[in-house]
Amino acid sequence: MNRAVMSRRSIISASRNLVSPAVSRSLRVPVRPFSSTTPQLQQAANMDAAAFGEQHIARGIGRLTKHVFEDGKGSWITTDKGVKLLDMTAGIGVLNLGHCHPKVSAAAAAQCGKITHAQVNIGFSAVQIALLKELIPILPHESLDTVFFWNSGAEAVEAAVKLARAATKKPNIVVMQGSYHGRTNATASMTRSKTIYGEGHGPLMGGVFATAFPYYSQFGLPVTTPTEELVNQALLQLRLTLSQQTSPADTAAIILEPVLGEGGYVPAPPAFLAGVRQICDENNILLIADEVQSGMGRTGQMWFVEDSGVRPDILVFAKGIANGFPLSGIASRKELMDLQKPGSMGGTYAGNAVACAAALATIKAFHEEKILENVAARSKQIFSFLKDLQKGGSKAGSLIEDIRGSGLMVGVQFANPALQGGSSNTASRHAGSQPQIAPKLVQECIKRDMLVLSTSVFDVLRFIPPLTVTEEEMTKACGIFKESLEAVAKDL
Ligand code: PMP
Repeated sequence: MNRAVMSRRSIISASRNLVSPAVSRSLRVPVRPFSSTTPQLQQAANMDAAAFGEQHIARGIGRLTKHVFEDGKGSWITTDKGVKLLDMTAGIGVLNLGHCHPKVSAAAAAQCGKITHAQVNIGFSAVQIALLKELIPILPHESLDTVFFWNSGAEAVEAAVKLARAATKKPNIVVMQGSYHGRTNATASMTRSKTIYGEGHGPLMGGVFATAFPYYSQFGLPVTTPTEELVNQALLQLRLTLSQQTSPADTAAIILEPVLGEGGYVPAPPAFLAGVRQICDENNILLIADEVQSGMGRTGQMWFVEDSGVRPDILVFAKGIANGFPLSGIASRKELMDLQKPGSMGGTYAGNAVACAAALATIKAFHEEKILENVAARSKQIFSFLKDLQKGGSKAGSLIEDIRGSGLMVGVQFANPALQGGSSNTASRHAGSQPQIAPKLVQECIKRDMLVLSTSVFDVLRFIPPLTVTEEEMTKACGIFKESLEAVAKDL
């Protein structure tokens, strides 16, 4: 046997040894002919849906409940067992017009009868053009006149990074400590809210540097720390990042969530946004605003950056844009977008026709149904309920350390000195090792048939209801929250 064949054989046998016996056995199973069945498959067909899901859906998807969602209307979900759940998650800030908004569903259904896949690298999509005509006027700055559509938030963040690199010819990206930008390889490296998203999956994309967000817990400071001090500290850290870690000459963009989402539901103070804009301008760095969660009316304005008057060079949108259909994108100015070579962007499903029809109907519904007025009213309702509870003198209320947010992106942070070593707010308490109130509270709410989420490594619960939530539904949600917090407090 010649040496080349021998070494090839030894490579094959060495690689076989790397594969576990279970995996190599499964590799030898013959391909099953189409439409044949086996006793295992027959047995599986009769399994309870949740049990089947546990068996056959990737374990890497963590799951808050074992409910099987079958039907959704407005603020309500019905499970396969007939349980009616009040949904204060809106599918993580996606269903801003509620589940199955009639106009959105009808538009998507109509589009299904017209054309479902109008591929963007082959020709223009009529419904995408119609959407652009409605979308561009509602973007937060007139310079944002050119759009690239994608499917998911993470993909759109990656598109923003590609654009920033192509436009500046610089490699590095600065992100905020506590940020969440997705779970793809590039965005997992840009996500700094929890280590779980990247742990064990490296090497992730390089050239990413983190700087501080003006959030008291992130600095290990008390909740009473003045905003001005937090902003000054964060801007100082950003300047240090650019003088100690990544030179402006190598830095393409600074990306931030105008309301830090998975990092704790913390709105960026306008002075911070203005300061970051100024640093970008001084250093020829692009500012990317990731409004995937805070956009599309969530914070009481169409985009959170609007009020601050700060112009992003690139806006990232997703989630609420198509009210449950997979659509995302970036908007920027034409002169930047035109720096990318034709063919360097795009993808099979980029700006899918059905998703575009849903987005078009979503924007129209915002105009027709006065959605932002409802956000203002329901926001007032929930904030005044939470503040009354906090100040009411009950044991449950005393657990609330901070109430924050904007519109219907509402965070409640807890502190329980008894549980957490008497310290009101130390970095060690925040390291994730201490027992927290928010996860227990979430479970108590679920017991009472309300879906709600915690967020971040800190002790924070978030409300992200549909923006169409009614006064009665919000009253019910507040009642369940109070009852659940009392149950948690009783056990402390
Ligand atoms: N950016 C932000 C601010 C997000 O909140 C999310 C999703 N939670 C993403 C990006 C990623 O979006 P997707 O899950 O659609 O990839």
